[in-house]
Amino acid sequence: MIDTPTDSEALGPKARKPRLGVFGGSFDPIHNGHLFIAGEIIRRGLVDEILFVPANVPPHKPASYVSPAELRLTMLQEVLEPYEEFSLSDIEVQHGEEPSYTIDTIHTLAGAFPEHTLCFLMGMDSLVELHQWRRAPELIAKFELLIYPRPGVREPAFAELSGHFGPRQARRLLNSILDTPPVPISATQVRAAVRARQNLAGLVPDCARTFIEQHNLYKETEETAGLQ
Ligand code: ATP
Repeated sequence: MIDTPTDSEALGPKARKPRLGVFGGSFDPIHNGHLFIAGEIIRRGLVDEILFVPANVPPHKPASYVSPAELRLTMLQEVLEPYEEFSLSDIEVQHGEEPSYTIDTIHTLAGAFPEHTLCFLMGMDSLVELHQWRRAPELIAKFELLIYPRPGVREPAFAELSGHFGPRQARRLLNSILDTPPVPISATQVRAAVRARQNLAGLVPDCARTFIEQHNLYKETEETAGLQ
């Protein structure tokens, strides 16, 4: 289904550039869904390493309440620490209050990792909104995407994607959708579970649960925070 290692592999194993998956998101909090998806993409050999890139103010979630970037970054650092293939970038967090856009981030990362082929990881919900992202046609033309199915989110129709990006890119996008089981976990569900004082076991790794408790995250509802 996926057009994996292509041109460089045809030149022989020695010529293959290492593949770096770029996993962007709010990670508020990072949850077991993110970790499962990243692990599955590594296990399938689709990329060699994954760089988690937490957004500061996610441009496509303008009205949402998002925890301070430094806290999300520290939580990610603690959670990712045991995984050899996973690393963390603060490139977007460094933007301060300025929203950062995936297309700019990935160009900067391509410059910082010239020896790698970069692939951008996203869930199906992000594919549905992709046409609203800044310079989306350039993003999909220049970089490979790996798209993870998500429960309750239908795959966009070819005609819909073609209307936004043209038939060639629509076909590429549909071919980028992984044939993997959907993972029924979201950060929204984790935050709601904290507010309802439910057990987070199975939803987030233990160290994220401890971090959430220590920093008293997600106790305030988005409504009482006056931010949504
Ligand atoms: P929220 O519930 O706050 O919207 P989220 O669970 O979608 O958060 P994000 O940090 O916004 O988490 O997600 C980062 C990326 O991971 C996005 O591209 C999103 O689509 C994808 N993603 C997160 N959880 C899943 C999941 N369970 N299945 C597939 N993709 C997912």
